[in-house]
Amino acid sequence: MRILVTGGAGYIGSHTVCQLIARGHEVTVFDSLVYGHRQAVPAERLVVGDLRDIDHVDNLLVVNRIEAVIHFAAFAYVGESVTNPAKYYTNNLLYSLQLLDRCRRVGVQKFVFSSTCATYGEPQKVPITEDEKQLPVNPYGNTKLALERALSDYASAYPFGYCALRYFNAAGAAEDGSIGEDHNPETHLIPIVFQAAMGKRAHVEIFGTDYPTPDGTCIRDYIHVDDLALAHILALDKIAPGTKLAYNVGIGRGYSVREVIRGAEEVSGLKVPVKEGPRRAGDPPSLVANAEKIHRELGWKPKYADLRAILETAWRWHKSHPNGFGE
Ligand code: NAD
Ligand code: UDP
Repeated sequence: MRILVTGGAGYIGSHTVCQLIARGHEVTVFDSLVYGHRQAVPAERLVVGDLRDIDHVDNLLVVNRIEAVIHFAAFAYVGESVTNPAKYYTNNLLYSLQLLDRCRRVGVQKFVFSSTCATYGEPQKVPITEDEKQLPVNPYGNTKLALERALSDYASAYPFGYCALRYFNAAGAAEDGSIGEDHNPETHLIPIVFQAAMGKRAHVEIFGTDYPTPDGTCIRDYIHVDDLALAHILALDKIAPGTKLAYNVGIGRGYSVREVIRGAEEVSGLKVPVKEGPRRAGDPPSLVANAEKIHRELGWKPKYADLRAILETAWRWHKSHPNGFGE
């Protein structure tokens, strides 16, 4: 299939591009490199550009006769979305709507979208199923939910279909250690924990130790980035005009912040310096996926079904690339 991957030089995008190429798809990566890395994708596949330049994108859709779009490009710092919502509504919603409309106009019929468990806000029921109410608690989640709604309306009205994948916490790195997570600034727990283990940070701060969980710290569902990548590939085959799909993508098991820290110490053999701090605003106590729907409908099954296996791949990457793609 001829596929345009927006944000394909970012963390999840680059792992997906790798799998798409391995399966023989014709991939065009479109990334501004604002957060992505040139080295994360094969040079001959990369087009550097910004979604704000919609005519550039349009040209690629037409010239490369694109059949499907996988749309990763977005900003994803929840805290920043609260202080600077304009930045998020513009990039994540306005530019995405423009992209969607160009897809419609040029006849692209398949669209896979990076949504998030953040669209559920503070869920009533955990593990979370897809029919849980989507009530985001921050602008980032609002932008993602708004695009899900637009996709649904497009699929009702036009010859167009989509799949929204609601990721839980992406984690880990390629099995061969060639690509991995390198966000700048980094806010995600697992890279921060390994950076602290390697002495690149003074410590990891635990955001809250008084949550109503067994050890008082937040519980999250960490999903390996290659398992996430596979979900996109399976989704592509399922989408046809009129298709409206939404799936939670997680392993269906939650781990606390303390369990992540302990696990990282075990796989690295290093001590992780820890400081206990206050809660971070907007963090629900527990977010765990019920991923039975994607198991059932797409036959998706995570290869990395526990935290330890995920942490091992992350450690291989951080150990061999202590400065991320900068090294
Ligand atoms: P990332 O920042 O590594 O990747 C996003 C990429 O999009 C970057 O390479 C960036 O340069 C590019 N980009 C952003 N705006 C652009 C624009 N206007 N034009 C062109 N390129 C642009 O992030 P990630 O962790 O790989 O996340 C990918 C997607 O998944 C995002 O949409 C994010 O919201 C979503 N998501 C991520 C997680 C997670 O745990 N990492 C969880 C849920 C959802
Ligand atoms: N967390 C933490 N210290 C950090 C970063 C994260 O205690 O330096 C916690 C955070 O409160 C959350 C979990 O680790 O409960 C995962 O956070 P992350 O930012 O990785 O992902 P999120 O769940 O916010 O998408």
